[in-house]
Amino acid sequence: MNPDKPTTWKQRNKERYLAAQRKNYAKNREKKIAYHRKWRAKNLEKNREKRRDSQREWRRLHPGYSREQWKNWYKKKGVQYARDYRKSHPAKPRVRPDRKAWSHAYYLKNRTKILEYRKSPKGRKSDQVRRARKHNASGSYTAEQWIQRFLFHGQRCRYCRVPLTLQQATIDHAIPLSRGGSNWPSNLVPACLPCNSSKCNRTILEFLALSSRLHK
Ligand SMILES: [Zn+2]
Repeated sequence: MNPDKPTTWKQRNKERYLAAQRKNYAKNREKKIAYHRKWRAKNLEKNREKRRDSQREWRRLHPGYSREQWKNWYKKKGVQYARDYRKSHPAKPRVRPDRKAWSHAYYLKNRTKILEYRKSPKGRKSDQVRRARKHNASGSYTAEQWIQRFLFHGQRCRYCRVPLTLQQATIDHAIPLSRGGSNWPSNLVPACLPCNSSKCNRTILEFLALSSRLHK
């Protein structure tokens, strides 16, 4: 049998088949979109894992590409590409005309949800990740690892020993990021908000020395 020779009706009438499919899709568009949306919501975690796996695999196969290089590439070429694209597609309106106003409006609209999220282990983490990136700190941790550190320190503030819930605990870096501390789990300690803000960029030892002097 010749595999290239069309045998089924579908193969012989490819155009008609495709047209029928297109028509079918147009007819059931709403339904199909709803189905896909449901599917995506159901498989959110799984797909995220898959994406992470494939990204990891890509990085493994392309060891030369570091985040730093992508950043440089974007600075050199990406910005220009974006500019050119906007120039050649002038009819397309910017999705977010004013980013600052847009994000502020978003914040106002979703305030309670955002504040709630920031207090969660994931939210605390993402805040620290942003700061760690700013300081070019090495290391990373998962929300689960942060919870482990929190439990390790007895669910209390590392400095004043006040009992904390996971929601109340803020993530403090024993050695501050601004002074070369890493973002590995071992450098994380739970702290109450007052201690964390008064510790500022001191190390644990400096801060404990200071607060014992204050309490004397
Ligand atoms: Zn404290």
